[in-house]
Amino acid sequence: MGSFLREDKEHLRGDVIMVPHGSFISYLSLDFLENDFGTRLFGNKYLFKWESDRDLEKEWLEGSKIRIPMSFDSPEDIDRPVIVKSFGAKGGMGYFLANDTEDFERKSSGLSGGYQIQEYVMGVPMYFHFFFSPLNDELELLSVDRRYESNVDSMGRIPARDQEHMGINPSYTVVGNFPIVIRESLLGQVFDIGEKVVRESRRISEMGLIGPFCLETICTSELDIVTFEISARIVAGTNPFMPSSPYTYAKYGKDISCGRRIAMEVRDALSTDSIEEVTT
Ligand code: AMP
Repeated sequence: MGSFLREDKEHLRGDVIMVPHGSFISYLSLDFLENDFGTRLFGNKYLFKWESDRDLEKEWLEGSKIRIPMSFDSPEDIDRPVIVKSFGAKGGMGYFLANDTEDFERKSSGLSGGYQIQEYVMGVPMYFHFFFSPLNDELELLSVDRRYESNVDSMGRIPARDQEHMGINPSYTVVGNFPIVIRESLLGQVFDIGEKVVRESRRISEMGLIGPFCLETICTSELDIVTFEISARIVAGTNPFMPSSPYTYAKYGKDISCGRRIAMEVRDALSTDSIEEVTT
């Protein structure tokens, strides 16, 4: 089982496979990860630039032919409520909402560098944690979460008439995660979206998505799921599901977390001599 690891010293130091997460990608340069890191990563590292660059991410989402928020190239074109995301903003800090072009002009004085103007999709946020197994050629839904974001998630606690005088600037800084079980009739739509994103990932990078990935979405009152972001790796939203989630338990009949699902895939890859199919 371990013989592949021992023979492949070029790429692996000390029989190690790294499982990359968000901070790992933001703190190390993508060029270094792709070319010089020297340790195998579980998943497809060539997709990290596609999730980190807002223009590439948009190309990936558009190419997937799923529903995504409308985006506006110029503030003049704003014809509905929008969310403005500056490229430098991390974790939703520094985003702002605007109702029209004048509102945008009033609020945009602090904007420096690039930004994206996106339709503000009215609905509830839901984050789907998928796992694509290249060995089984199967897409699995591991779990679903919702983020606890400060201060937007506290706005509903203040009556609108009081908010008006408080000069609150909404921010979307993630401070925690809640588990969600979604309405069962939505599952077909969820898998359809996941499969389309996987299909497109193979067009933009040969090996496509491997292992855990997350789609960040808003579900509207018409029950349309609108996807606004992709993470091509494990996300913090899987943490409430240690040791298990209702979806993995239903599939496997035992406790399976995201970490354990990754370990299962590595073990299967080692026993079938196919570690190259799940690591890059
Ligand atoms: P992001 O940094 O893109 O993950 O977004 C941070 C938060 O902003 C999300 O968790 C949502 O609550 C909210 N958000 C982002 N994009 C949209 C959108 N197009 N419509 C409504 N809310 C959004």
